[in-house]
Amino acid sequence: MAEQPTKSVAIVGAGLAGTSAALGFLDAGFDVTLYSDRDRASLRDKVPPTGVGVLFGKSREWDAEIIDDLYQVGNTTGISVRLHSGSGDERADVLEFNPDYGYVAQAVDLRLRADDRLGRFLDRGGRFDVGHVDTARLDEIAGSHDLTLVATGKGGLSALFGVDESRTHYHQPQRRLLQVTLEGVDHGPDTFGYRSREGGAYSLFNLDSENGEIFVGPFLHKDAGATWSIIVFAKTDGAWAPKIDNVVDAQSARQTVVDIFTEFFPKDAPVVSSLRVIDSDPYSWLTGAVTPTVRHAVGHTASGHAVGAIGDTAIAVDPVAGQGAQNTLIQVAELVKAARARLAADPNATFDAQWLHDEFEKHWERRGHASVEVTRLYLGDPDYATHLELSFPAAAVNTDIASALFGLLSEPNPLLSLRTRDDVVGFISAVAGVPADDVLARFVPAGQFSAAPSRESVSV
Ligand SMILES: Cc1cc2nc3c(=O)[nH]c(=O)nc-3n(C[C@H](O)[C@H](O)[C@H](O)COP(=O)(O)OP(=O)(O)OC[C@H]3O[C@@H](n4cnc5c(N)ncnc54)[C@H](O)[C@@H]3O)c2cc1C
Repeated sequence: MAEQPTKSVAIVGAGLAGTSAALGFLDAGFDVTLYSDRDRASLRDKVPPTGVGVLFGKSREWDAEIIDDLYQVGNTTGISVRLHSGSGDERADVLEFNPDYGYVAQAVDLRLRADDRLGRFLDRGGRFDVGHVDTARLDEIAGSHDLTLVATGKGGLSALFGVDESRTHYHQPQRRLLQVTLEGVDHGPDTFGYRSREGGAYSLFNLDSENGEIFVGPFLHKDAGATWSIIVFAKTDGAWAPKIDNVVDAQSARQTVVDIFTEFFPKDAPVVSSLRVIDSDPYSWLTGAVTPTVRHAVGHTASGHAVGAIGDTAIAVDPVAGQGAQNTLIQVAELVKAARARLAADPNATFDAQWLHDEFEKHWERRGHASVEVTRLYLGDPDYATHLELSFPAAAVNTDIASALFGLLSEPNPLLSLRTRDDVVGFISAVAGVPADDVLARFVPAGQFSAAPSRESVSV
């Protein structure tokens, strides 16, 4: 019997989504071409990473379907959270908690993750075509492949996919963003040890009710190794947002972060001030903003060929709850499995618009919807005011609730069943094992958070 010809897959864009899909489909037996507007060296060394890309727990299981876990640095087991409110004389330390996640979160430079995938793809015979793909070229590509996936991120060719207004909650960014990776402070137990017993095995999350949030986390930088990645999520009407305008390079990014800590989080400022820019990487920083957008995952080229959206092209979320890269990996790993199963069942099967649509709907149910909602929770969307009002004080007095709150970064789906105040009260009671009222009655606002020793005594 004649052997069935191998089905061909074209993937456009070589970020995390594109390189993961390229390797996944190749390993599943497809004939894959990856199209990229940048060559391999440029993807690794001439652009900033698209984000920090922390994989919180569960998504790492899907990632393991694509590639082995190659990274020992940047793994964390919990988070030290502090909430401040008010400004001027009214500013107060409100609450703190330091939950163990109950899972391992992994923060690895996305340029390294993508390069490792691309390297394996090339070693195993994948084709890599370098050149900008416009809509005319995409039409040709889609016409000559059995399946074409678009992974060009939030910009690129995303306009080919209409916005799904029923799933898109915002039409402008909810935070201004500043991300910078800095070196010079290790991940040992003494680093930030005044915040939690785990020190540098935990990330930090500082919330400021007026101005936004700051994440500080142990990170594996592609060249410098063990480093710290910092993200400022500035509320658009807060005091931090205009400071981001001054950022033009790594040095000014670091200085802006140090200035914000000195003014708003002086207890952490001694350690943060000890961090230095990574001289070998002028692209270790970025500024920007994400308009959270869910698109219809099937588009059509000029000649009518169906193409599918993956990664940020399909669902772009604000990074405050760290869902984008996780969502991407889950979508890609499941799509590879679905395509392989489809061919195993019927070697003549096609990957048409209906199939692409159906697979995206499954992804939306499996993870996409929950990742959008947990992001709205962490953005403090008014729809989640009750959830936050109850769960943060409860987390401050009950570590199981704190872990459950951050468990949502790994597995956000339970949030979808917490609709009403009664649902949230029931959730707190169930996790705590005692009535929610008893938990909340124990909460008293923090007096003073502990502080880092002066800068001179911090080891670097
Ligand atoms: C500050 C910040 C922090 C984040 N932190 C987290 C986190 O902790 N956890 C998490 O899960 N997610 C996080 N994210 C989200 C995560 O970074 C993204 O979801 C993920 O990197 C998206 O990958 P992608 O491949 O879809 O897009 P991209 O990384 O944008 O890749 C798109 C690629 O396509 C190429 N391209 C574009 N147009 C064309 C074209 N016309 N032709 C050919 N190639 C083209 C681009 O050059 C690029 O290489 C964060 C995001 C930000 C901004």
